[in-house]
Amino acid sequence: MHYERRRKRLVEELAAAGIRDERVLKAFAEVPRHLFVPEPLAPRAYENTSLPLAEGQTISQPLTVARTLQVLALKGEERVLEIGTGSGYQAALLARLADRVFTIERIEVLARRARRVLDSLDFYQVNIRVGDGTLGWSRYQPYDVIVLAAAGPEVPRTLLEQMAPGGRMVAPVGDNSSQQLVLVRRTAQTTTREVIDPCRFVPLIGKDAWPK
Ligand code: SAM
Repeated sequence: MHYERRRKRLVEELAAAGIRDERVLKAFAEVPRHLFVPEPLAPRAYENTSLPLAEGQTISQPLTVARTLQVLALKGEERVLEIGTGSGYQAALLARLADRVFTIERIEVLARRARRVLDSLDFYQVNIRVGDGTLGWSRYQPYDVIVLAAAGPEVPRTLLEQMAPGGRMVAPVGDNSSQQLVLVRRTAQTTTREVIDPCRFVPLIGKDAWPK
């Protein structure tokens, strides 16, 4: 079956699983996931499952990514910070849904491959940096939206500080045995937290997360 048909089926599957945000569904219909996964796994790219990347990392399950993007309710004008570039796939989806995307990956070979794939698809509005995402990217703060694609013991404090008033963040929090996807909202005075779903992500490794 041709990749385009498989992609369409995945989008139908996401819609049937409760994804209603038309912009999110359109982004999934447009971004070619098969180019982001390692080449031998391309035939499986449109299964609703996480898949292995180099260095023991993973590209997240499409439904988990779609739920995250739906909760964030992006309108197109946001400045977004993603922690955990991995393959670059979620960064590409974010670029379809927001204005500017900044993404940090701690493993250089992953960041380099992601850059190549994103460039080949003209996603030049995605900025990638190699480093520890728990320290944020102060140069471009504040961010309207922050998305973490790896789970730490807590929401990193520096990332909370780099959120714009009115901003929102989705972060998996927990260890190998139990994790929850948490939505954090920041107003001028307070920060609120809401648990969205149980989840399973690779560990967030860094100064304000798990040790190496
Ligand atoms: N968003 C990715 C995608 O679409 O392919 C999936 C990311 S994968 C589930 C999580 C990534 O977070 C891994 O590539 C891992 O190396 C990275 N990571 C873990 N701790 C990090 C940190 N402190 N800073 C930046 N990246 C980190």
